[in-house]
Amino acid sequence: MTPFDDHPHEECAVFGIYGHPEAANLTYLGLYALQHRGQESSGIVASDGERVHSEVGMGHVADVFTEARLDKLKGHLAIGHNRYSTAGQSHITNAQPFMVTYSRGIMALGHNGNLVNAGDLRRELEATGSIFRSTTDSEVILHLVARSLEQETEGAIVDALNRLEGAFTLIMMTRDKLIGVRDPYGFRPLVLGRMGEPGGGTIWVLASETCALDLIEATFVREVAPGEMIVVDEEGLHSLFPFPPATPTQCIFEFIYFARPDSYIFGENVYTVRRQLGVELARENPVEADIVIPVPDSGLAAALGFSAESGLPLEWGLVRNHYVGRTFIEPQQSIRHFGVKVKLNPMRAYLEGKRVVVVDDSIVRGTTSRKIVEMIRKAGAAEVHMRISSPPITHPCFFGIDMPTRKELIASAKSVEETRLHLNADSLAYLSLEGLLRCVHPRGGEFCTACFTGSYPIPVHRVEPQLWLFQELKASEHRA
Ligand code: AMP
Repeated sequence: MTPFDDHPHEECAVFGIYGHPEAANLTYLGLYALQHRGQESSGIVASDGERVHSEVGMGHVADVFTEARLDKLKGHLAIGHNRYSTAGQSHITNAQPFMVTYSRGIMALGHNGNLVNAGDLRRELEATGSIFRSTTDSEVILHLVARSLEQETEGAIVDALNRLEGAFTLIMMTRDKLIGVRDPYGFRPLVLGRMGEPGGGTIWVLASETCALDLIEATFVREVAPGEMIVVDEEGLHSLFPFPPATPTQCIFEFIYFARPDSYIFGENVYTVRRQLGVELARENPVEADIVIPVPDSGLAAALGFSAESGLPLEWGLVRNHYVGRTFIEPQQSIRHFGVKVKLNPMRAYLEGKRVVVVDDSIVRGTTSRKIVEMIRKAGAAEVHMRISSPPITHPCFFGIDMPTRKELIASAKSVEETRLHLNADSLAYLSLEGLLRCVHPRGGEFCTACFTGSYPIPVHRVEPQLWLFQELKASEHRA
């Protein structure tokens, strides 16, 4: 086993809070609101200024944290992390936040994103004696901080972070400091909120998305800027920009699929963007049909926009079972394969004899979409027109969205017409890149659209062969 054969794709959630007597309980709630960003493992580290305690476990937030575990997490300072589930790498040693004791004291860290030079850094560190306990990129960061010759913790962190290339939104803590960082490109979101404390002082909150602030009734202050590092301690909050300047390239796929619709990230509301994608899609690719139906939940907002723009009525054509978890075991023997039916059931009465437009946000491998088309046909639809509110995904993501290898991305090998044939749809159309870009408003930069264009904001040619290898191994493991 090479250290990289389950190279992680860190789609994750981070959360941190300073100054509240129930910091861990609020972190638990924050992570609960951010469950969509990661379901594999969850963890919280809390400090009362002297003692630091960590609880991490596999599974959903509500399963990992029992009352007894939360009770152990005492103090006014806490950070938390949810990690995404991907095949073959589900292991407690990869669960975060990581906590270590080193020469400067205690440090804990949670990471969202992917480093493109993690392999190089890890080899370099291992060659000089570092021992790793996980296979994640994130542990590399702790080693770099520990080895820095800078005296102060903050300086050591800055020193370490300047060695990183790629996507990193980080939440870190020491015994008495909360630290939040976004890489200079700002691939992944991070927002700052505050709460008024009954006792007077300001309580500062950092979270991947604003939906976490809403749940705990914190006020949104602003986003942490790309390249910004925020430090909160006894003296309050201060901000620094410790990286050489770069043009921000925030991830457009957060808007398309990943973030929660009620969140505000990258300066706008996710639902508003997603709905507008549907409006643009209807303008670019009109179709004669009777009804529009969303693929729940990923296509909901775009289907609303499509229906509003086209004037075609929106119907709830597919009902989703929301309780299908990772623990669902499909009976293997005599019973047939249920596939997507476990998750979705068609509304026969509304589909029968109808020309149906099915709206979803994206097609990755095409496997699910094909089953959905088949399901709608079997329910009696006269025609099935698939409309996708993003361009074809032709390239994998190296910055933290879990995408399969290039050869598994259906649009990397097949044309739109070939994909339509594969899906067995009467028509298939995607939103254009121009249409997508009309719906978002970059402030002081642009968006990373590499999954649609192959134009990566950070050169990946040096790391690509390694990553291809990790991905190939992961994929073969998945198939096995
Ligand atoms: P498929 O037809 O198999 O390519 O699956 C398409 C579905 O995958 C769509 O409903 C998307 O919303 C969903 N999807 C897109 N990106 C991801 C991702 N990174 N992880 C899980 N599902 C995704």
